[in-house]
Amino acid sequence: MKASILDVPRGFWSLLVGMRITLTQFFKPVITVPYPHKTLPIPARYRGPIELTADPATGKALCIACKLCERACPSDCILVAGVKLKGEKKKSVTEFKLDFTKCSLCGACVEVCPCDAIRFSKNYNLASTSKEDYIFDLVARLQAEKKQP
Ligand code: SF4
Ligand code: SF4
Repeated sequence: MKASILDVPRGFWSLLVGMRITLTQFFKPVITVPYPHKTLPIPARYRGPIELTADPATGKALCIACKLCERACPSDCILVAGVKLKGEKKKSVTEFKLDFTKCSLCGACVEVCPCDAIRFSKNYNLASTSKEDYIFDLVARLQAEKKQP
């Protein structure tokens, strides 16, 4: 009986403590972002899946299909092909596939490239239920970007 009488002030005190914590948090500034309506700026060092870079003057991919990145990749997730066009000294890339399911974002491919033809993208919105969606055609992506206004 004695214990149950003491439970009343204890319960009331616990209620006050809980309310104090709730009210303190309620008036604190909001630190979360209502994604996807709002997004945070992406940090400069963020590494998204690699993408091809292009010559700003011509819009042509800088990749010369030397395959150094393909050989340097420890996860064997790059496939490059290219052709030497008539009148050109270097090859032009015709195919650049990235199997992002195996990529560890180690950066070996970016470092080894002699032409700065690949870089880490800022793409983070990669959710999918299909594994095939992670096989990226980087040549097609570059062409699609060029068409965007
Ligand atoms: S970041 Fe590393 S694992 Fe990913 S494609 Fe480049 S070399 Fe391969
Ligand atoms: S991205 Fe760079 S390293 Fe890879 S094939 Fe093209 S030029 Fe060579």
